[in-house]
Amino acid sequence: MADVQDLRSLDKREIAAVCEGLGWPRFRGKQIFSWVHEKGVETIEEMTNLSLEQRQTLAAAYGIAPLRLVDTWQGDGGDTVKFLWRLPDGNTVEQVLMFYGGKETKDRVSTCVSTQTGCAMGCKFCATAMCGRGRNLTAGEIVGQILLANRWCQDHDRSIITNVVYMGMGEPLANWPQVKKSLQILNDADGLNIGWRRMTISTCGLADKIKELAEEDFQLELSVSLHSADDKIRSALMPINDRYPLDCLMEACDMFTEKTGRRITYEYAMFRDVNDSKQDAEKLCRLLRGRLAFVNIIPANPVAEAGFFPARSERIKEFVTILERNHIAVAVRHSRGQDIEAACGQLKRRNHRERQEADMPENKRK
Ligand code: SF4
Repeated sequence: MADVQDLRSLDKREIAAVCEGLGWPRFRGKQIFSWVHEKGVETIEEMTNLSLEQRQTLAAAYGIAPLRLVDTWQGDGGDTVKFLWRLPDGNTVEQVLMFYGGKETKDRVSTCVSTQTGCAMGCKFCATAMCGRGRNLTAGEIVGQILLANRWCQDHDRSIITNVVYMGMGEPLANWPQVKKSLQILNDADGLNIGWRRMTISTCGLADKIKELAEEDFQLELSVSLHSADDKIRSALMPINDRYPLDCLMEACDMFTEKTGRRITYEYAMFRDVNDSKQDAEKLCRLLRGRLAFVNIIPANPVAEAGFFPARSERIKEFVTILERNHIAVAVRHSRGQDIEAACGQLKRRNHRERQEADMPENKRK
């Protein structure tokens, strides 16, 4: 794969240009795009409506970068599944699948995908931040997570992915060119055809990039990790707040709402004795009053290494009551997969630790 280009990273126009360059008719481009991005083949050999000679010609310069499944974990009675993928360069990333549904409702299958192998944003409560800066994923590596997870679903007789949330490892807006391309590929009617409104970008609050996103003609969902309406507390939780403090972040959010007409979801991970007081709730009401906003309260996944613990349920109830009294739309989202450490970065770290321990002499293991 070293000297060949990854077909998963190419959109339909680029694959058509490849075919044109080879002197093939344009419809071949559509066929190849559909093999890669709709059927999710993992090798060029599987493209059986191309002749053997055509497959060999294509394989001389192109390939499909392999994502190897290192491990899977299942929690919530099988409704949450987590994957650890190995990328061609040996890096690993996590992906979470969440199955929702019931007898009366059509199945909704949501996935959180990774966009970087670590993260430079340094949020204090985040296990991914502890993995270091990492590198950007390519569009193909992002799309590949969804294609291969769909394959896993089909092999396990489960419904395939309906919703994509860019909320795994990494800050998606810090890798915007590749993230944008992956969104366009996923939305393509000849590929997975996932509607814009079924795709969500979740950001820690890169205000400049939110403004850039507002200028795009994408009707996607935006989710902003707020976690506090107080600059001092937010900066202590999220160093990005020093670069883009709340007034700057909210100006960008207002621009997004103005341009797209779309409501923003504000994520509020609630940590015990950090951001769960009555005063914190009142500040949040003042910040969001008059804005098109929805607040998602998340009793945070415990990341013991970072010293953060979930808020107590009576505090959460009191917080929600204050928001409701102030007519702020709010819901409590119960964290999925606590039994499998589903917060982003936790499984990568655990796998890394386990591998280190396996390599360690017996007397040094914990
Ligand atoms: S919470 Fe998100 S943005 Fe913050 S360090 Fe973790 S992965 Fe990065």
